[in-house]
Amino acid sequence: MSVVALWHCDEYSSAALDPIVREALGLLTFSQGDRVLVKANMLAARSPDACVTTHPALVESVCRALLDLGCSVTIGDSPGIEPFALVARVSGIAAVGEKLGVPVKELSRSTLCPANERRVNRRLELSADVLEADAVVSLPKLKTHCQMQLTMAVKNLFGTVVGTRKAQWHYAVGLDRSRFADVLLDILVSLPPVLSVMDGVRGMEGHGPSNGTPRQFGLIGASADAVALDAALCPMMGLPAEQYAILKAARARGIGDVDLDRFEWRGDFDPRTRFANVDIPALDALSLMPRFMDRLGRALLASRPEQDLSRCVQCGRCASICPAGALVLDGKKLRFDYSKCIRCYCCHEMCPRDAIVFREGALMRLFKRIGMART
Ligand code: SF4
Ligand code: SF4
Repeated sequence: MSVVALWHCDEYSSAALDPIVREALGLLTFSQGDRVLVKANMLAARSPDACVTTHPALVESVCRALLDLGCSVTIGDSPGIEPFALVARVSGIAAVGEKLGVPVKELSRSTLCPANERRVNRRLELSADVLEADAVVSLPKLKTHCQMQLTMAVKNLFGTVVGTRKAQWHYAVGLDRSRFADVLLDILVSLPPVLSVMDGVRGMEGHGPSNGTPRQFGLIGASADAVALDAALCPMMGLPAEQYAILKAARARGIGDVDLDRFEWRGDFDPRTRFANVDIPALDALSLMPRFMDRLGRALLASRPEQDLSRCVQCGRCASICPAGALVLDGKKLRFDYSKCIRCYCCHEMCPRDAIVFREGALMRLFKRIGMART
């Protein structure tokens, strides 16, 4: 039986966060001298108000509580493309490290994970700093996600894949969300014990994970079972658990607990809460397609990324992150090679100006016109 705790929390003050965080840390056993890696979401160099990264006040509260328990604490992540020092400074997380005397470290050393029968992908490289820790405290941000629909506790662990190896995974799994979910679950089963503490005070809806609209959810969630925490939050966000690729894969593989009836609930937030009309990116119906139809699906069903020239500042980040080499910046214009594009939407995720927009595939538009797909 998994314990899932949910608390009301409407502000990032120490008075509001500290009692919750101390209770949350009680969900995993920490001993004096434990090396704990605090894995914040440090996706991009955005200020805390943008709600892209874990709020520094939560990072500070967690680190302070761990130090009080006698743990040796390091804050870390491996951002998508921008220099780590810049992301740490702009997100406010570098200042937390300086204030508490805690190292804020880029996860840059990659190492092969020991063999593990529970993995689908037998060969997996992760951050050595994370694998060498006694425990991980993961601090996801509650956000929508253009590829996976939601990014929560399990997805946050993708940051333990070092640097460009993330792009290699995107390239390897292509359009197949269930295969990407399997990679995420492989990461989960390869890590030391993970306690997830969800930053849902202010999260994001719409064009997440980096260009959506901030939204107040007023929630902190925690569990030592990342799958269970996602299972609890998914319906609250308005997405049935059976439609969320990560939970479908977790159920099929018997990883974590997805059955809400079996949870032991703690905290003062009602798990039956449903946030009204959360703007969740719709799927392209690709998950319904057999894998051999990847190429056809790309052409006919999947939304394709396009440049919004009015917003683009020609920074070139999208072209440098593209794992398929499907994108070049040619003067002011982005040139997409859609025959190569795997629709991973990393270009959208990394764009600082929300200048990558989506155009639905021709077949999908036809389905909608004749009422066969939801809008
Ligand atoms: S163009 Fe964008 S969506 Fe297509 S493969 Fe490159 S990063 Fe992914
Ligand atoms: S689309 Fe975004 S990431 Fe790409 S060049 Fe323009 S502003 Fe930069």
